[in-house]
Amino acid sequence: MRNYEQIYIDGAWVASDGRGAIDVINAGTEKVMGSIPNGSPSDVSKAVAAAKKAFESWSQTPVEERQKYLVRLNEALQARSAEIAEVIAGEVGMPITWSTMIQAGLPAGNMQTFATLLDTFEFEEEIGNSLVVKEPVGVVGAITPWNYPLHQIICKVGGALAAGCTIVLKPSEIAPLNAFILAEIIHEVGLPAGVFNLVSGTGTEVGAAISSHPDVDMVSFTGSTRAGKAVAASAAETVKRVALELGGKSANIVLDDADFETVIPKGLFACYLNSGQTCTAHTRMLVPNSRYDEAVQIAVAAAEATQVGDPTEEGMHLGPLISQAQWDRVQDYIQKGIDEGAVVAAGGLGKPEGRETGYFVKPTVFSNVTNDMTIAQEEIFGPVLSIIGYEDEDEAVRIANDSLYGLSGGVWSGDQERAMSVARRMRTGAVDVNGGSFNIAAPFGGYKQSGYGRENGPYGIEEFLQTKSMQR
Ligand code: NAD
Repeated sequence: MRNYEQIYIDGAWVASDGRGAIDVINAGTEKVMGSIPNGSPSDVSKAVAAAKKAFESWSQTPVEERQKYLVRLNEALQARSAEIAEVIAGEVGMPITWSTMIQAGLPAGNMQTFATLLDTFEFEEEIGNSLVVKEPVGVVGAITPWNYPLHQIICKVGGALAAGCTIVLKPSEIAPLNAFILAEIIHEVGLPAGVFNLVSGTGTEVGAAISSHPDVDMVSFTGSTRAGKAVAASAAETVKRVALELGGKSANIVLDDADFETVIPKGLFACYLNSGQTCTAHTRMLVPNSRYDEAVQIAVAAAEATQVGDPTEEGMHLGPLISQAQWDRVQDYIQKGIDEGAVVAAGGLGKPEGRETGYFVKPTVFSNVTNDMTIAQEEIFGPVLSIIGYEDEDEAVRIANDSLYGLSGGVWSGDQERAMSVARRMRTGAVDVNGGSFNIAAPFGGYKQSGYGRENGPYGIEEFLQTKSMQR
């Protein structure tokens, strides 16, 4: 049991002004695995005051010194990676093998990437008679979701620290325990007091207090489009800078010359990772009508071969969804798909056999999907793939772009140049071409209602800077 009874403000663990605690549920056992303080707006005010005060000196700290802290944070994250992986496997339900690689591995790797980038990052440039300097934006309010909880936190904390900003973090109340481990690490590493502050609680109380606080200079939000809109509206009152990393409904275009036997299972996996609870999940698979039946057959075989199992066990299986609420939501979407005329080709409603405990969902494939159906337009956040047919390349691009979202996508072709030219036509922040692997230093962010702003790598430092020009 991990019961955290204090929040972290101004370099110290302190009592929250809020009332009561929020329980954290283990996704695999449905049992309480810990709790956190249910923080309040007055906690936020104290944390913001500490961050504002710390900004005066932290923003003036030489880059080499900030870099040393980032290196130490990377080392400390690595030292506790087994514990982080285990905690997130419990909170989120991602099986331990995956959790070790992704949930614990990515945050440490990302922190090191920010540290390394500071070797070459240019904070100044000359334009004519002007010296243009890039300065930290100030106090950053970071609000994060539950699906890759520590990764999402480090994208913000690492970039903001590298830039010279100070931070008030509100992690997801559904998977918050990893954020408390991070605060312990930050304390142990000796980051100056007030540079990083942690206030736990709900979005409507603590999150809203951050987005409306006059002394928060920027809100960096990752989560649903619904909450992102509320954050941006509230931040507008004080003209804060806002970065939004929101939802997605990404299209994976399989061209007619692709090797279906190889690429369809890979495409399915790009939808199923983390049991589909991935903002960049390739949830719409677009295949040529001329090879539609073949594509469905291969996808169904791959879905039926997908194992579902205990998150504490090693292996490449899928775990449960994070919560009962998420399970109910996914069931509703599956029902909607059926009601609107799509065909359940694999999986479907209910729990997989023998998996009564834990929020498990059957790996599902829908065929006969048209792009106007709810399951093709809305983010399901479960292991549910929709296969949509197209006539030609132009129609494939049109369907891919016919979405409110634009976060990610994929293209598969036997001809790399052809795949690249289709990728260029997709209105989305990222495209994986022929299975190109995730790049930790590449800019990450959305087009359209998937948000604005970019995280990771040099763009993820730039995000937390503002420019001043001095004419001579
Ligand atoms: P969510 O929007 O419910 O919550 C995200 C965070 O916002 C939480 O910390 C929550 O407490 C807070 N919040 C909620 N309402 C708020 C409000 N009115 N004001 C301020 N804060 C508020 O999202 P979630 O369910 O935690 O995460 C899933 C969503 O996140 C999905 O839509 C997914 O696509 C998206 N996501 C996007 C990315 C990305 O980088 N684009 C990455 C991961 C997840």
